[in-house]
Amino acid sequence: METTSEAIWHAAGREQTAELARLLAEWSRPGTVLALDGDLGAGKTTFSQAFAAAIGVKAVVNSPTFTIIKEYEGLAMPFYHMDVYRLSQEEADELGLDDYFYGEGVTIVEWARLIEELLPPERLELFLEHAGGDARVIRIKGIGEPYAAWCEVLNEMGEQKN
Ligand code: ADP
Ligand code: MG
Repeated sequence: METTSEAIWHAAGREQTAELARLLAEWSRPGTVLALDGDLGAGKTTFSQAFAAAIGVKAVVNSPTFTIIKEYEGLAMPFYHMDVYRLSQEEADELGLDDYFYGEGVTIVEWARLIEELLPPERLELFLEHAGGDARVIRIKGIGEPYAAWCEVLNEMGEQKN
């Protein structure tokens, strides 16, 4: 059984979503996988842009909806940004997603639940929900290490804030 742990991040606005992205960027290593879900406009791409900036990507990060996967050069490692909303099972098999997940860089997948069976078993899942206006609730689940430990740290941070 994998170790799992959960955390909740309350973002009052874009800046707090970006704050979470910056924290996770700091903890990320080659092979890190962040699986994002949530409705259209929940903030998956906004999160990804803040994450990319934090790992030193200088290029403009757009939603990769039509290209499926975009690769960017970060300071310490590449950043692989996927949006699998329009990806068919066949295409997914052809793309060889494992080369990214277990590659040299860090991967963010938008609409990750659509390819759940292709995701690596160990990953950080983030589910973004609208919570009125610019507020978002981000439900986080760490499956395996170090992701479960990250959730513990986020929980400790939350306790200190309250
Ligand atoms: P998704 O990729 O989930 O479809 P986007 O990131 O493209 O969502 O769009 C989210 C929109 O909501 C953007 O226009 C962003 O500026 C806005 N927004 C407002 N508040 C927040 C927040 N707290 N976190 C993320 N995005 C927010
Ligand atoms: Mg998006």
